[in-house]
Amino acid sequence: MFNNLSERLEGAFKNLKGEARISELNIANTVKDIRRALLDADVNYKIAKEFTDRVKEKATGEKVINAISPGQLMVKIVQDELTELMGGVEAQFDISAKPTIILVAGLQGSGKTTFCGKLANYLKTKKGKSPLLVAGDIYRPAAIDQLQVLGEQIGVEVFSERENKNAVSIAENALKYAKEKAKNVIIIDTAGRLAVDEMMMEEVANIKQAAKPNEILFVVDSMTGQDAVNTAKAFNDRLDFTGVVLTKLDGDTRGGAALTIKYTVQKPIKFVSSGEKLDTLDVFYPGRMAQRILGMGDITSLVEKAQEQYDEEKAKRLEKKIRKNQFDFQDFMEQLQQIKKMGNLKDIMGMIPGVGKAIKDVDISDDAFKGVEAIISSMTPFERANPDSIDASRRNRIAKGAGKQLHEVNAFMKQFEQMRQMMKGMSKMPMGMMGGMGAM
Ligand code: GDP
Repeated sequence: MFNNLSERLEGAFKNLKGEARISELNIANTVKDIRRALLDADVNYKIAKEFTDRVKEKATGEKVINAISPGQLMVKIVQDELTELMGGVEAQFDISAKPTIILVAGLQGSGKTTFCGKLANYLKTKKGKSPLLVAGDIYRPAAIDQLQVLGEQIGVEVFSERENKNAVSIAENALKYAKEKAKNVIIIDTAGRLAVDEMMMEEVANIKQAAKPNEILFVVDSMTGQDAVNTAKAFNDRLDFTGVVLTKLDGDTRGGAALTIKYTVQKPIKFVSSGEKLDTLDVFYPGRMAQRILGMGDITSLVEKAQEQYDEEKAKRLEKKIRKNQFDFQDFMEQLQQIKKMGNLKDIMGMIPGVGKAIKDVDISDDAFKGVEAIISSMTPFERANPDSIDASRRNRIAKGAGKQLHEVNAFMKQFEQMRQMMKGMSKMPMGMMGGMGAM
């Protein structure tokens, strides 16, 4: 995420390396490089200039105390300013109204429909809500189908009226239906266009007037940079939305949209989405994003994601098995599934400080575990539970079943054995230290 920006900022801080104190000269060079880095990330000139002027002012006024170097001080100032630029603290997402009505708008292809599915899933699984998805796109039957498919995947009902060509009346009927069915969150997906156009705006504005939503979320593709910011401005002028959803942060985004949307429209980013999987919606935290941009990782989010998957009962059972050296392939497979549930693999690894940069050019797809999964799937339940039973002939059969070479199966078996040995060693650690490992 934002790798180029991270690298460029790191380069800017190097100006201060070895300097014993902050001087006008070394600040000037650093600030110039920071400004260039921001412009390269597609931040508009005025915002970049204001940003670096503030950084300069703060740095000049700061006394460098013994404990920190000028470089560290500058990183801290930039971190604070980036956080502030993106909104300071996390924005509130208000779902207290009964029911809560959420209107979702944005251009076609921005990821609007996918987001509606992610949001419904998030509210259902993390907030215990009973959502209804409403297909408000009256122009593209495929959009209704898409929402239906998403709804089925997450077990959320979808309201649609294929014959009705009036989006306002669909929204009104959906609200009545939601009341009958005791749904407490209604998410209305609206039609998008390829570019901002008056008819689309008017339609969404009319739905807003009729449905009186508690939240109006504007969805924008972060890959479109400054265009995203301009589109946000146009939508906000018309809709006065309550928050922004930034999608496709998993792509090769430069960062401009994330950095400047809040400043430009004075509306907070509420969610980000980085991946097509329906369980990868994330609340937006400006401070954590600033840390990631500065290559500090995001341990807080990583721990939270792990905790979400943490099941105390399961962890205890697993701990016992590890202590007795009974960790088997079935347990291993379950652990893999848990890691996968935490979200996009590269994204997760990027949350570990320093790792994001190291793996930026490495292609880590979510299919990374596929080979291992295929091998384990080819084992019989007996073999999964008794790794030591797997002799040469069984390995041959497993390799054939998994479509793998024998040496690949052998290599995996060896790795698994090493892992078991390591776990056995760790199980000698005090109880408290083992506890937290169940989630990983
Ligand atoms: P809509 O036209 O605005 O409703 O957009 P869709 O939800 O249909 O999304 C357009 C395309 O972007 C689809 O191929 C989605 O799978 C993809 N997409 C949506 N959100 C994300 C995301 O966060 N990351 C990535 N990589 N792709 C996404």
